[in-house]
Amino acid sequence: MTAAAEKAVTRFHPVSAPDYLPVPQLRDLQLARLQATVQRAFTNVELLRKRMQEHGVRPEDIRGLDDIVRLPFTVKADLRDTYPYGLFACPLSEIVRLHASSGTTGKPIVVAYTRDDLDVWTSVMARALASYGITRSDIFQNAHGYGLFTGGLGFHYGVEALGATVIPVSGGNTDRQVMIMKDFKVTAICATPSYFIHMLERASEMGIDVRELPLRAGGFGAEPWSESMRQRIQAAAGIRAYDCYGLSEITGPGVAAECWFQGGPHVFEDHFYPEVIDPESGQNVPDGVEGELVVTTLSKQAMPMIRYRTRDITALVTEACPCGRTLRRIRRIGRRSDDMLIIRGVNVFPSQVESALLAVEGTLPHYQIVLTRDKGLDQMEVQVEVTSEVFGDRVRALVDLHEKLMGAMEQTLGLRVNVRLVEPHSIQRSEGKAKRVIDRRAE
Ligand SMILES: [Zn+2]
Repeated sequence: MTAAAEKAVTRFHPVSAPDYLPVPQLRDLQLARLQATVQRAFTNVELLRKRMQEHGVRPEDIRGLDDIVRLPFTVKADLRDTYPYGLFACPLSEIVRLHASSGTTGKPIVVAYTRDDLDVWTSVMARALASYGITRSDIFQNAHGYGLFTGGLGFHYGVEALGATVIPVSGGNTDRQVMIMKDFKVTAICATPSYFIHMLERASEMGIDVRELPLRAGGFGAEPWSESMRQRIQAAAGIRAYDCYGLSEITGPGVAAECWFQGGPHVFEDHFYPEVIDPESGQNVPDGVEGELVVTTLSKQAMPMIRYRTRDITALVTEACPCGRTLRRIRRIGRRSDDMLIIRGVNVFPSQVESALLAVEGTLPHYQIVLTRDKGLDQMEVQVEVTSEVFGDRVRALVDLHEKLMGAMEQTLGLRVNVRLVEPHSIQRSEGKAKRVIDRRAE
């Protein structure tokens, strides 16, 4: 990119003004909003009031931001246990939207928004997009699913608020996505990383080189992805791929977003207060140390979340970002504690497998982990697609690649696993969140 083009995308956008609040004023704002949120939760939400009482803490005990550690955690099970409306802090008449996320088992969790909550969500999404360098001149393809999932509508209103042009394609129908990307001269896109990779593959089959299209930026999220995956996406599409972090329980996408420098997403701290804890002890860990992200909403009206345990593993980055934002950053979420697999006593995260695989040339970003149990012993097989060049090449190339991957896996995981090289297209493509693990151990 030329210096002039870089200057254009890193230019200050007016919607980003709150990103640059001086830190003392930002902390004052957070404290005032935290106190109001705790008071609101205590007054209006029975479960949160009871839990605060059990912990011997009252709203007036929150005198400084450090007092946040006195408050009890909220966990996903609380949303399930109070299904559907038990955590609402206002009458239904004030609620203007509901979203829900499908749990892995049984009932979904329900989240609610007042008019003000939607305005905040839209504003943080606009700030996220501005931090990617999106402006009103951009044509934005929204390939997140529209519906109960927060991805589609979250991006939609953010793009409109910024004044860019949104194309509400939603997920799926990949050939049409590619056609629109090309014909509508799309310049920016959002999707899950795995679905975008699938789009690139279809484009190539349709004889379209995405690197030659005007597309220049993408906001990716809704599933953990590795730095290696980012490198693959950027090289294959000729774009900058930015992380967008969020979760429905807090608001949806727009809790944190990366800037031009791609050094981990900045948390929109004037609305969401981040902490990182040791998931075992529940104690806060020092900045820079990895742990579980805990988020408290600071302005949510319909459904305030107090110290919500996200299950996402990250660390707070405290070094100042060259972009000048005062918002703290978190390390990009590569793994969730929910994703952790225990294989023969060793902890394994799918994202570790991903970074090891994709660091080796000749692999494609399509892989799957299959778990089985043989004579009581867990077996893990990593299936990865390889390029047709390698596959069509002499047997020697395949054997070499296999050996290299076996070594890379053992080194990364500290565990000997089986690697199986498969032909391009043999692993099922996803149009949303990719299913990376097939667990047949109980079969
Ligand atoms: Zn930055």
